[in-house]
Amino acid sequence: TTPDNPHASERSATLFDEAQQFIPGGVNSPVRAFRGVGGTPLFFNHGEGAWLIDEDNNRYVDYVGAWGPLILGHCHPAVIGALQEQLSRGLGYGASTAAEVDIARTICKLVPSIERVRLVTSGTEATMSAIRLARGYTRRDKVVKFEGCYHGHVDGLLVKAGSGALTLGEPDSLGVPKAYTDLTYVLPYNDIEAMKALFKEHGDEIACIIVEPIAGNMNMVPPVPGFLETMRELCTEHGSVLIFDEVMTGFRVALGGAQSVYGIKPDLTALGKVIGGGLPVGAFGGRKDIMDCIAPQGGVYQAGTLSGSPLAVAAGQAMLREIQKPGFYEELGATTEAMLAGLKEQARAAGIPFTTNQVGGMFGCFFSGEDSITRFDQVMACNVEQFRKYFHVMLNNNVYLAPSAFEAGFVSAAHGQAELDTTMAAAKKAFASL
Ligand code: PMP
Repeated sequence: TTPDNPHASERSATLFDEAQQFIPGGVNSPVRAFRGVGGTPLFFNHGEGAWLIDEDNNRYVDYVGAWGPLILGHCHPAVIGALQEQLSRGLGYGASTAAEVDIARTICKLVPSIERVRLVTSGTEATMSAIRLARGYTRRDKVVKFEGCYHGHVDGLLVKAGSGALTLGEPDSLGVPKAYTDLTYVLPYNDIEAMKALFKEHGDEIACIIVEPIAGNMNMVPPVPGFLETMRELCTEHGSVLIFDEVMTGFRVALGGAQSVYGIKPDLTALGKVIGGGLPVGAFGGRKDIMDCIAPQGGVYQAGTLSGSPLAVAAGQAMLREIQKPGFYEELGATTEAMLAGLKEQARAAGIPFTTNQVGGMFGCFFSGEDSITRFDQVMACNVEQFRKYFHVMLNNNVYLAPSAFEAGFVSAAHGQAELDTTMAAAKKAFASL
């Protein structure tokens, strides 16, 4: 190893070879395989605050945060302590607990559009259940989603980025019957007129709109003024349910989620990631009259053996207590802003076209000469080759970014000056290498 390439990664490489003998593609979730950047994926051994340590003992400043949940960093003592306390009392009872009541009360308090909430085990389950509920409540079948938004691997939402307004979706995955995606309309993100046109023609068939109020699965794209407002008006006017998928943005961009940032009240909200503190949890909730349609009260079935797992709830409660401390989001936002300002400065110095988006502790970086990125086609037009090169130089200099040009990044409360210094030193080399 040399100072410029300090990484021995033999153990990760060996593990990846072995993994491919037993696990399809060697991974349990596709993006982990580094297909978007090339090279061998790292295998991690442990985390400490803002740092990840791999199986070869290399250390990285972590901007993935387990894909969002770890807003306090790795191994926060409050979360670990809460888990240890629960461990001593058992792992699950398949029945109700006091902690579930407590976390539900906290969620309803922090996100006022949520009057009733049910816990599930993943973000996918949360969005899937919210859609079934919207269909049951409205007795309609059609769903509207936006190009570039990801809502988990729900059959009817795995729809290819369509050719625009008023076209029905084609399945984006083998194994999804065309009949399912025939019920899904796909619209361009941030296109207000396309949405109005669709509702004018088909509004009375539409059960719901599901949207990432800040898109975080096409890199990161915030809503343009009027986008969320218009969908709120159209849903109210046509009796459709507005679902905000805040699996990523919930408790991430602000304590009250994206809906508090933009002042829009959805009918239902899907949550995940941060509310589980790093354990498998999702949730969906919203208006009482709609949530009352769920079994056992109503006729829309939804259930889960591990729903409300005491361990996951304990981690989530601890997380939600920490993030309510005064100044938490101000500091997280300031750290993120300082980091992005530093990157932009390094890019400018190296003469590389580069722009960023940010809300709170969530960010996007684009190798693009555009002043602002608000559309899917702009994201797709970014220089992916430059990103790949940048990714690997950052990695070789101890900074772990999401291994794809189309993912949002996350900063945790454990990121401080030392981590920013490491990041800037790496970025200087990375931009210079382009
Ligand atoms: N919705 C959004 C906005 C997401 O970002 C994700 C996952 N990244 C999901 C839903 C699915 O969550 P999960 O992977 O926990 O099923």
